[in-house]
Amino acid sequence: MILYSTKNKSYQVGLKEAVMKGLPDDNGLFMPLDIPALPTDFIQNLANFSFLEIAEKVCKTLFKGAIPDEDLKTLLKNAFDFPAPVVKLDEQKYILELFHGPSLAFKDFGARFMAQLMSYFNRGESRELTILVATSGDTGGAVASGFYKTPGIRVVILYPSGKVSMLQEKQLTTLGHNISALEIDGTFDDCQALVKQAFLDTDLNQHLRLSSANSINIARLIPQALYYFEAYKQLAKGGDPVVFCVPSGNFGNLTAGLLAAKMGLPVHHFIAATNANDVVPAYLEHGKYISRSSVRTLSNAMDVGNPSNFARMLDIFLGSDESSTWNNMRNQVSGYAFPDQETQIAMREVDEKYNYTIDPHGAVGYLALDAYQKEHPNTRGIVLETAHPAKFIDDVEETLDRKIEIPARLAALADEEKEATFLKPEYNSFKKLLIERYSG
Ligand SMILES: *Cc1c(COP(=O)(O)O)cnc(C)c1O
Repeated sequence: MILYSTKNKSYQVGLKEAVMKGLPDDNGLFMPLDIPALPTDFIQNLANFSFLEIAEKVCKTLFKGAIPDEDLKTLLKNAFDFPAPVVKLDEQKYILELFHGPSLAFKDFGARFMAQLMSYFNRGESRELTILVATSGDTGGAVASGFYKTPGIRVVILYPSGKVSMLQEKQLTTLGHNISALEIDGTFDDCQALVKQAFLDTDLNQHLRLSSANSINIARLIPQALYYFEAYKQLAKGGDPVVFCVPSGNFGNLTAGLLAAKMGLPVHHFIAATNANDVVPAYLEHGKYISRSSVRTLSNAMDVGNPSNFARMLDIFLGSDESSTWNNMRNQVSGYAFPDQETQIAMREVDEKYNYTIDPHGAVGYLALDAYQKEHPNTRGIVLETAHPAKFIDDVEETLDRKIEIPARLAALADEEKEATFLKPEYNSFKKLLIERYSG
């Protein structure tokens, strides 16, 4: 498998380098050079295959021998030990529940697959690999549990003290083993600055083999394409054309869907759903991409002002000039944006009309699907429910004016003992700690 940088198509690397490096040196994003179509009989017979069998077929086709079949099978099995069920609201609206993994959000798919790939490519290395992650709360939990007990890899998570929720903090600080947490007496930006400086520090890099678990690593995108096949499979055969509606922030999830469509999944149309951070819906409407600072909303995992995967979307739809790229994208993707008041109304509507508890991110998706289907009535739509409502329990309970159920694995966290090292945001003490604890 060959991947190139979106900034320079002749900058090409293999799968191992793309995964271990995360980002090309030119600051572009890695993309597969060839996205092969799957055989049509495979697509037509999806219903005969399990999620793992679909995953195997898709990855094998894309990886082109970069990982031997038996190894691929093992690492897929290790990564995906939880389901992705489709729930029916009515004849036209369906919910794909992506929150059955350990951190209760879809990011588990990407993080667990990336951990497996990194561990696989790290085999035979005598020195431990140390992964540094700065988190504002959400990604950290998925990465921590994804790499938990992965041989040869240690994860050090930096999070801003007092700025993550209690349960998020527990997800970062209670695993132990190869996962350590540093509670930084500062902001998320301070955490990120410490990590950035560590990567640039040549002296530190002689003591430790460092890597990142970057959210735009191609190893996080590929596994997200898999559940589009899985969802399509679960919808009854025949009937109206299928559209996917994706609550979006950095647009990794939506880009993964485009990848699935390129590989032959017959998706009729994609719907990009955002909160007030609407740079992509605005681009789809006007043809101008204008990034800006993000604003805080109820669906805060989607509060992104300059989505990192937009470069990949442009690349996928690249035409002969700007306006043909725009038209190519508009032919396959529609954008909708909603303010928080409407999100709350939608949460109540889904609760009352369908007796289903949807989280604020999924609710934005529900609104977008509903708006799209008003204009395109003869379609069946699948909303990606990106997180379990209990992850946002305070907002959900306040909006619905009732208690909601907390999954046992989340509730159990509350009693676990937090273990973190408190640290001022000073580079030298951070570096000293890393060397003392992890080098050698
Ligand atoms: C990360 C996240 C999103 C946004 O996904 P992107 O791939 O960045 O567009 C949406 N919902 C939840 C709950 C998330 O954690």
